[in-house]
Amino acid sequence: MKNKADVVIIGGGVNGCSLAYRLARRNLDVVVVEKGYLTSGATGACGAGIRQQWSTKENASLAIQSVKIFEKLSAELGQDIEFRQGGYLIAVHDSKELEQAEKNVEMQRSLGLKVDVLSPEEIPRIAPLLDVQGMAVVAATFCPTDGHANPFRTTFAYADAAKKQGATFLTHTEVTKLTVRNKAMSSVTTTQGEVAAPVVVNAAGIDSMRIAAMVQVPLPLMPFRKEIMATERLEPLFEAMVISFKDGIYFSQQKEGQIVGGIPIPEERSGFKTMPTFAFLQHMSRTLVRYAPVLRHVNMLRHWTNYYDVTPDARPILGEVPQVKGFIQCSGFSGHGFMISPMVAKLLTDYIVDGKTTEVLENLRLDRFKGGSMNKELSVVG
Ligand SMILES: Cc1cc2nc3c(=O)[nH]c(=O)nc-3n(C[C@H](O)[C@H](O)[C@H](O)COP(=O)(O)OP(=O)(O)OC[C@H]3O[C@@H](n4cnc5c(N)ncnc54)[C@H](O)[C@@H]3O)c2cc1C
Repeated sequence: MKNKADVVIIGGGVNGCSLAYRLARRNLDVVVVEKGYLTSGATGACGAGIRQQWSTKENASLAIQSVKIFEKLSAELGQDIEFRQGGYLIAVHDSKELEQAEKNVEMQRSLGLKVDVLSPEEIPRIAPLLDVQGMAVVAATFCPTDGHANPFRTTFAYADAAKKQGATFLTHTEVTKLTVRNKAMSSVTTTQGEVAAPVVVNAAGIDSMRIAAMVQVPLPLMPFRKEIMATERLEPLFEAMVISFKDGIYFSQQKEGQIVGGIPIPEERSGFKTMPTFAFLQHMSRTLVRYAPVLRHVNMLRHWTNYYDVTPDARPILGEVPQVKGFIQCSGFSGHGFMISPMVAKLLTDYIVDGKTTEVLENLRLDRFKGGSMNKELSVVG
């Protein structure tokens, strides 16, 4: 096993693999350590929706710039990641939500995003299966360039491209200890041996809190079980992702025809729980059929769970921590870490290689939680 690297990345999800690719392309010697297989964390369980409609400038600009990268990513990586842009339709249920939606749209348009506010009558034009009365909406917002990609294909395409650039991937290898010398990262101990490195990236999903605790850095992450299901395959019915912040539901139709979607059960609380629940099946099917009665007789085939790594303001924790030089955070994605992964990798690469920072990166550092006020992301499901 290699015993030295420029950068060790802990975690082989979409964020670890996309960062490995960008760093290796800049000629850094990169080792990715993954305790299971690539995509075995949240990445392999996710809905993989890509949405640019956010309430905070940081999330919106990360997503908008990520979409620009996603649009060319299959060609860049030389593999089809199944990126498609069917849009996101966000249900708006009352005047308070409408007021917030209008504010969001104004901010998103100021960043150059094309996004519309639709009346209830215009909604079936986007997704004819929707019943606007059942949804109980007063409006919706719609962005046609939002979309979806295949999370497995995306992650493996990044990893293959990173390997071609010389990166090393150690799968089924767990990080058990981090060593700091003179307040700087020194080495990473794994179940296969030790790797010395001056830069260590913590991209371990919900386990990032355990990794950071190895060097006494507390991360304010909360694990939330998220349940998600897939139906049998159907003929093409609609292209958009449909979501509601109030009801917590999201669903879209995949290229192969199945509907994939999720909703939090009302009694869900934070905790390390992985068991799928019967309550989810009931709540999901009732809400889905209220939104799209035509799906009443469709069979659900699969149902699985994984975690959101949720921060107090629902925005990621990125960048170097003040306590340990060379210890870089890349977690706290709060349920939207797939869609912003291209830009997260770019920002962290620019920081690690060139020492370059940006306003977005600065606003997402761990130290932001020290201050009193919080700029909370409001456009979240569940
Ligand atoms: C049900 C569900 C639906 C979602 N839908 C969407 C969506 O539509 N759009 C979107 O953008 N996001 C969505 N997300 C969120 C998204 O999946 C995550 O934010 C994203 O995949 C995080 O990727 P990651 O690489 O940061 O972490 P992960 O994919 O969790 O990868 C972390 C990796 O670190 C490894 N690891 C942990 N500890 C160690 C250790 N000690 N040593 C070595 N390796 C270790 C783990 O095995 C894991 O593979 C969803 C999540 C869930 C659960």
